[in-house]
Amino acid sequence: MKLILLGPPGAGKGTQAKRLEERFGIVQISTGDMLRAEVAAGSPVGKEAKAVMEAGQLVSDDILVRMLASRLQQPDAAKGFILDGFPRTVPQAEALDRMLAEKHLKLDAVVELKVDDAALTDRIAGRYTCSKCGTGYHDQFKQPVKAGQCDACGSTEFTRRADDNRETVAARLEAYHRQTAPIIPHYAAAGILKSVDGMADIDEVARQLDAVLATV
Ligand code: ADP
Ligand code: ADP
Ligand code: ZN
Repeated sequence: MKLILLGPPGAGKGTQAKRLEERFGIVQISTGDMLRAEVAAGSPVGKEAKAVMEAGQLVSDDILVRMLASRLQQPDAAKGFILDGFPRTVPQAEALDRMLAEKHLKLDAVVELKVDDAALTDRIAGRYTCSKCGTGYHDQFKQPVKAGQCDACGSTEFTRRADDNRETVAARLEAYHRQTAPIIPHYAAAGILKSVDGMADIDEVARQLDAVLATV
């Protein structure tokens, strides 16, 4: 299964991708996570990306296309993958088409998670993740079963992203509508676009995703 999860920041892509990883035994490829790892490592790419990410803007297509091409070469991507956060621009979508064509691979589906901007601001402002295993949580919508302790790994350390604040969210939503939404017709034209109501609660979105994926 080769999928793209598409949707604005905070739509639930990472949350659903983690679940699909287990369900289908395929890897989640999150370009946001990859970039944050580069920033944390202080690599040349990380140095270039840091300020752009903190401003809520998109990192250059050039960097992202190279990053994704090398990630897709890794053996764990051979069985299938869920792209989360890529492509985010028309040139990235076109570069992905070329990469897959070279490998004689085809996407099974592009699933758009639809969520209103107002809900996204609350989702992003309340988001935090386990520092050890990366499981995602939310102050209101998804708290750990035992307060202060990760359900998945038991760690008691959590982190919040530097760009998850109300000021930056507006810039990120603007970038989504202006630069990312235009890739939707690209996949509609290819006949592989599906859409799911991302406003529902996490379990309901998961059910809808399963129903949609059962048809591909
Ligand atoms: P994305 O990867 O699209 O940016 P996330 O999966 O990180 O989004 O979700 C953003 C925040 O909203 C997280 O804190 C997550 O726990 C929460 N969340 C995800 N899906 C839902 C949902 N369907 N309803 C309410 N909150 C959600
Ligand atoms: P979210 O799902 O909340 O939008 P991500 O973790 O996917 O956040 O991305 C965080 C930031 O990393 C983005 O705001 C952007 O600066 C950068 N980024 C991630 N993926 C891409 C991409 N494909 N192209 C350009 N910039 C990207
Ligand atoms: Zn954990």
